Amino acid sequence: MKITVIAGGVGGARFVRGVREFVRRSDEDHTIDVVVNTGDDWWLAGLRIWPDHDSILYTLAGQNDEERGWGRRGESERVSAELRTWGVTPEWFTLGDLDLGTHIARTAWLRAGETPTEVARRLGARWDLGVTLHPATDDEVDTHIVTPDGERLHFQEWWTRHRARLPVARFEQNGIDAARPAPAALDAITAADVILVAPSNPVVSIGPVLEIPGIRAALATASAPIVGVSPIIGGAAVRGMAEACLAVIGVDADAGAVARHYGARAAGGVLDGWLVDDEDSPAVPGIEAAGIVARAVPLWMKDADTSAALAADAVALARTVADLG
Ligand code: GDP
Ligand code: CA
Repeated sequence: MKITVIAGGVGGARFVRGVREFVRRSDEDHTIDVVVNTGDDWWLAGLRIWPDHDSILYTLAGQNDEERGWGRRGESERVSAELRTWGVTPEWFTLGDLDLGTHIARTAWLRAGETPTEVARRLGARWDLGVTLHPATDDEVDTHIVTPDGERLHFQEWWTRHRARLPVARFEQNGIDAARPAPAALDAITAADVILVAPSNPVVSIGPVLEIPGIRAALATASAPIVGVSPIIGGAAVRGMAEACLAVIGVDADAGAVARHYGARAAGGVLDGWLVDDEDSPAVPGIEAAGIVARAVPLWMKDADTSAALAADAVALARTVADLG
């Protein structure tokens, strides 16, 4: 079976690791492709940085810093200190030395004319990931926020420097109208047997993927069932600041509200099925009334067992909705 996951950074990485664990424990042959958000990507100090891609890469490679929750383990910051002293990088954004190695390699390959898709292939080849990572687009569609006063900041500055506290009128993605899905990402959607939407930030991780012209249409016509997992449990994001982003687009921080925001595929949305946490089981009838088959299961990804079980539940629901359809 070909499993394709649409994912953002840290939440996406934990989920993809669970899908890989599920596949490893399964008797069947499965492949895993991940369509990765590129909206967080940006240029800093002349380097192309892919936060969501690298979160997934490092997590699958076992190179991530579990305690801190981001970046490489065993990281040092000597180069970063120098860059700050030179005034090349801001105080509020740290680039670890090992991480900088990734950014330099990536930028070198991009400068040599490779596409982001090709560069992702090279980065992934270093470790036995068991998963293929595809940037959703090869174009630069960096997310910006626009304040009520019309000030425009890169998403990273808003998120990291302002901790998502600066008021936002709207999110905008540079060049989104002219962007194209990366061919490999599009193939991963059209050829999939099962499509899973990771419990990533619906607004700034999954949203930017869906905004790329052609992606929604590909999902609408994909033959695979599409099942999403709620990043919201009991009315709050499990980790991070997703509530602030949902508020900007007028969606409640609620597992049912997020499902209805994505919408039923039969009604022009992207979902056939949706998993909420056990504690959100009262939301199930409202989600089903919107045309999305919903189940309540444990959504906390605490370790390999709980993450693999969540992936198994998502695949099982996909099979259920495929049988219904
Ligand atoms: P980012 O790009 O690094 O911000 O990460 P993502 O967008 O991929 O994921 C962030 C989301 O992951 C947050 O909204 C969290 O609520 C969600 N998340 C993190 N851990 C878990 C978990 O164990 N279970 C569920 N259901 N969601 C989680
Ligand atoms: Ca992200």
